[in-house]
Amino acid sequence: MRFGSCRASTQIATQLLISANVICNSFFGTSLIKSAILLNKYMKSDNVIVKNSNIGGKGVFALRDFKKGEIILHWDISHILSKEKVDEMTNDEKKYISFLDNKYVIMQEPEKYVNHSCDPNTTAKNFCDVAIKNIKTGEEITADYTEELPPNTTMKCNCGSRNCKKVIRS
Ligand SMILES: [Zn+2]
Repeated sequence: MRFGSCRASTQIATQLLISANVICNSFFGTSLIKSAILLNKYMKSDNVIVKNSNIGGKGVFALRDFKKGEIILHWDISHILSKEKVDEMTNDEKKYISFLDNKYVIMQEPEKYVNHSCDPNTTAKNFCDVAIKNIKTGEEITADYTEELPPNTTMKCNCGSRNCKKVIRS
């Protein structure tokens, strides 16, 4: 059910944006297209905020409590790369590439800022980050990158969790 509902809401969000664009183009011009895009961003991220993280760089934090099993983020998967393109990239360039269901996705905001933890509170399912435990307001949203690193990728970890693997491999 989680899978179904996730896919459905992503489609609805896309359709809303498309219809908003059509309406704006026909009647109002470009400024309202920008509003529609902002609206879409807001719809995507009103439950989380991006700010500096103790794990490293920026991180994504909960703006409300989430229950185990809840979808926290729907990935924007409009930016897909071919395997050939990704093979040419360095580890550093692959920083924001996720590999899920055989697709190489250039991660967009805010989901691109979800940090790895060796004790994560979400899992990646059908291009969504889904809570695997109850999450409190203010907690950092973390994922298990071993689920989504491109093949043959390794990454150092300093997530600070007791069972930190130090090096993460796809
Ligand atoms: Zn770790």
